[in-house]
Amino acid sequence: MSTLLPFNTTMICQLFTPLPPDGVDDATPGFLLLLQSSSLVLHADTTQELFFDETVPAGLRPASGLLRIGDWRGKPLRVARLPSELPLPDGCEALPFQGPDFRLDNTLATIAGRAAQILHWERRSRFCSHCGGAMVRLPGGWGKRCPACGDEHFPHIHPCIIVLVRRGDTLLLIRNATWSVGRFSLVAGFLDFGESLEECVRREVREEAAIEIDNIRYIGSQCWPFPSQVMVGFLADYAGGDVAADGVEVVEAGWFPEDELPMSPGGKRSIARWILDTYGRTS
Ligand SMILES: [Zn+2]
Repeated sequence: MSTLLPFNTTMICQLFTPLPPDGVDDATPGFLLLLQSSSLVLHADTTQELFFDETVPAGLRPASGLLRIGDWRGKPLRVARLPSELPLPDGCEALPFQGPDFRLDNTLATIAGRAAQILHWERRSRFCSHCGGAMVRLPGGWGKRCPACGDEHFPHIHPCIIVLVRRGDTLLLIRNATWSVGRFSLVAGFLDFGESLEECVRREVREEAAIEIDNIRYIGSQCWPFPSQVMVGFLADYAGGDVAADGVEVVEAGWFPEDELPMSPGGKRSIARWILDTYGRTS
């Protein structure tokens, strides 16, 4: 199953061909994707097109550090991160690729997310976490090797479950302590040592809402490049206990009628939103 969601490869498969980073990167003109903080920098008047080589404003072209991550519309796509304090020239603007600002279309948000995830790995993998030696790239992919101690390191992508729990025609929603009043979403959390994904689902529901569940089933997943997660979506049925928030990580938890959900559970591009839109109603 391939879930058509922003940040998943399927969203851009007609436009983007990923390539290993160790191929010969010649001077063929192509596209330049520039990130600044959590935004994609674009021409303000054509905000749904990446820069082409000749159209990059002079002040924005990085002197070095461009990394080819694949082809975009059949031409090389090179990416770089601009300093967050660099002022943008007239005619350019920075559009966030993570909500709540959704001016970027889903394809550009997706390729920007891919670039950000790769650059995050590149920044975090310069030196070996075992001995501190400078790392070199392994052929054919994004993995790296430390010549000093021989350790090999591969991109860190963190699994995180998210689950819609149903009890009749009501759904379990929680409010995290860091969210504003009135904002709810699904139970979610990172996989822990020794856990299967299903065990993680069971534990997170128990920790965040104090109830038991059964009939856990996988429904889809989403790359979440903030900075490098994969969200793994599940459905489950209520099996026992009284809902209670832990008062620390979760400050509210409860059953909501499926046709009276609180405002905006999950951002527009999130798998939480997709799960609720796709599985939130029995009829
Ligand atoms: Zn090492």
